[in-house]
Amino acid sequence: MKYFEEKFYQNSPGYPSKERLKKGPVAVIECVQEIPCNPCETACPFGAIKVGKPIINLPKLNEKKCKGCGKCIAVCPGLAIFVVDNAFNEKEATVSLPYEFLPLPEKGEKVDALNRKGKRVCSGRIIKIIPPEKNNHTAVVTVAIPKKYSGEVRNIRCSIFK
Ligand code: SF4
Ligand code: SF4
Repeated sequence: MKYFEEKFYQNSPGYPSKERLKKGPVAVIECVQEIPCNPCETACPFGAIKVGKPIINLPKLNEKKCKGCGKCIAVCPGLAIFVVDNAFNEKEATVSLPYEFLPLPEKGEKVDALNRKGKRVCSGRIIKIIPPEKNNHTAVVTVAIPKKYSGEVRNIRCSIFK
């Protein structure tokens, strides 16, 4: 199924180039359905996302303007925005993702890192959690994973759910 594969998103206007992805934190917008929606555009303090008119346009990322701050993640009702940092360290990348389950994971916790289908890809380590009360009612969790999986991991499963 195309919706579960990175290559399906790579040509969409919200997906950063391979070169930009190597350089450090950047928004990865996996929004491919033309629906009337644009909170991501107004949430970005750097003007890096454009929907424009008509409002059903797919969001376009200006990868040069994006600082990878993550402010766009929690505002997306479709849970379609992530921040990927391939320059986190030599071996690991991080993926920051919206997380709507409770309890929240803890910093340092080992979790299962899941793909778009919810299938386990690898083990991950929680780096940061922004709780929902501080973030538009949606928690944002940052997980460190082996670099080669940064285009695949889009969710986590905490140990309590195993
Ligand atoms: S990560 Fe920050 S700078 Fe990049 S698009 Fe989102 S809000 Fe804008
Ligand atoms: S907020 Fe999310 S669903 Fe709405 S246009 Fe932006 S990326 Fe798409």
